[in-house]
Amino acid sequence: MTASILDGNALSAHLRTELAERAAALAAQGVHPCLAVILVGEDPASAVYVRNKVAGCEKVGMRSIKDVYAPDVNPAVVFARIAELNADPAVHGILVQLPLPKHFDSEAVLEAIAPEKDVDGFHAQNVGALMQGNPRFIPCTPYGVMKMLEAGHVPLKGAEAVIVGRSNIVGKPMAMLLLAQSCTVTVCHSQSRDLAFHTRRADILVAAVGRAKMITGDMIKPGATVIDVGINRQLSGPNAGKLCGDVDFESAKTVAGLITPVPGGVGPMTITMLLTNTIEAAERTLI
Ligand code: NDP
Repeated sequence: MTASILDGNALSAHLRTELAERAAALAAQGVHPCLAVILVGEDPASAVYVRNKVAGCEKVGMRSIKDVYAPDVNPAVVFARIAELNADPAVHGILVQLPLPKHFDSEAVLEAIAPEKDVDGFHAQNVGALMQGNPRFIPCTPYGVMKMLEAGHVPLKGAEAVIVGRSNIVGKPMAMLLLAQSCTVTVCHSQSRDLAFHTRRADILVAAVGRAKMITGDMIKPGATVIDVGINRQLSGPNAGKLCGDVDFESAKTVAGLITPVPGGVGPMTITMLLTNTIEAAERTLI
């Protein structure tokens, strides 16, 4: 068997065309959707993510604001800026790129963002709303995964879904979203005994660990849908320096029914859903 590919680039391009139309419709009513992004420090991966988010805004006709601070900035400066952006009616979405330097209380920073502008969906109020099944903003990566499952016509009701990873930004919200669609959800983590026992039962397997190629073909149920959230840089071998996922694509594609590649899978969808959340926030100002 060779798995069909769930192409995140193609789906993103399609969804972004719709977003451009929604942005234009808002502009015609005098609302110019705007995302503000705050970057603290010089982490190269974070700088790339922020650049891609800003470029994504431009391409669909949205405004963006990018504030970059030195790694040793006083957190009070960043809190003051967040308060300013919260109060600015021309700004619809605010995100602070994670991770923050160690002298920051990341949780306090996320809580400082106005919940109605928290387009990453990380504010406790928004996490609670998601838990209650009434989300205001769905965190972008799991939201993108749900869109990919929908586009792939993957049956969810009653499906065994196994998520590897339990972070606040991917694993946990992913579990809530799949549960809301009546999957039977198992969440694995670093202390799980016999990971392969769980992954082999999965009709839908989501890998969000951050360990290159750790999920191999023998850990996958034949015909399963495999969603690879991981983004890892290969350190050695012929592809040194290139990106790869948490799934060993070569062995997995011979067993899975549907699979996402890395790059070109979940990554572009994450940014697309960030743009979606920001447009949605702007549209809500008209209600
Ligand atoms: P975290 O480091 O926050 O979480 C990793 C999770 O993996 C933890 O729950 C950890 O368990 C679990 N884990 C670690 N080792 C193992 C193991 N050997 N077996 C089973 N579980 C294990 O990562 P994130 O959730 O932030 O990100 C995960 C990956 O997804 C990363 O590669 C990241 O770069 C990528 N990512 C990609 C995005 C995209 O747009 N495509 C967006 C966000 C992230 P424990 O809790 O016990 O420590």
